[in-house]
Amino acid sequence: MAQAKTIQPRSIQVKCPSCSHPGSVEVWPIITSTTDERAMELVLNGRLFEHVCPACGKKVAVAYDCLLHDVEHRAFLLYTTKENPEVTGPHRLMDARDALRAKSQNVDNYQLRLALTTFEFCEKVRIWHDGYDDRAIELMKVAIKRGMLKEGIIGARDVLIYERTIEENGGVSFVVVGEIPGDVVGVPQGYDYCKRIIDEADKGFDLVGEYRFGAAWANAYLP
Ligand SMILES: [Zn+2]
Repeated sequence: MAQAKTIQPRSIQVKCPSCSHPGSVEVWPIITSTTDERAMELVLNGRLFEHVCPACGKKVAVAYDCLLHDVEHRAFLLYTTKENPEVTGPHRLMDARDALRAKSQNVDNYQLRLALTTFEFCEKVRIWHDGYDDRAIELMKVAIKRGMLKEGIIGARDVLIYERTIEENGGVSFVVVGEIPGDVVGVPQGYDYCKRIIDEADKGFDLVGEYRFGAAWANAYLP
């Protein structure tokens, strides 16, 4: 079978905004999870779109279009800096899936995802990597946040970010980002319930044609 053409990362030059020291950063326009190990490591560490100045250590955000093919989890994920990503993004994702289909690959149940921030991009990949359905995790976040809001222990604009599996009880932990950043919420249960909601919806094809599974979607979806 013909191998997909490998696109090596490009190097671009950046100047530190703090000390003006020049540096170079690797840019990956396309990442394939099974072959681009170095890029996957950067994604999983949340450092793909980040440059650290070699002179002063300042972190500089470097945003660019990136299409990730998660082969194991049958998904394409796109982050794009173009205007109106919600219009152009789905086309790029469908083209990527069609290209696979053209190579006689089975694309049934392939998930297409659009990330609107580089942060969300890396978070989605970590969620899949840890074996979760990102849609169920988003539902979980909404349920947890609603509970915390009711108790007055979180602000309306605070955001929960997936952290990891809690090994002792198989639960999931989230980092609270907002007014008091750095708090971690551990939730022993709830994932299986949210996953069932998603599986039922999938059977009814409720979710076909959705590319954005974030807080806004989850808020509208969860009764
Ligand atoms: Zn610097």
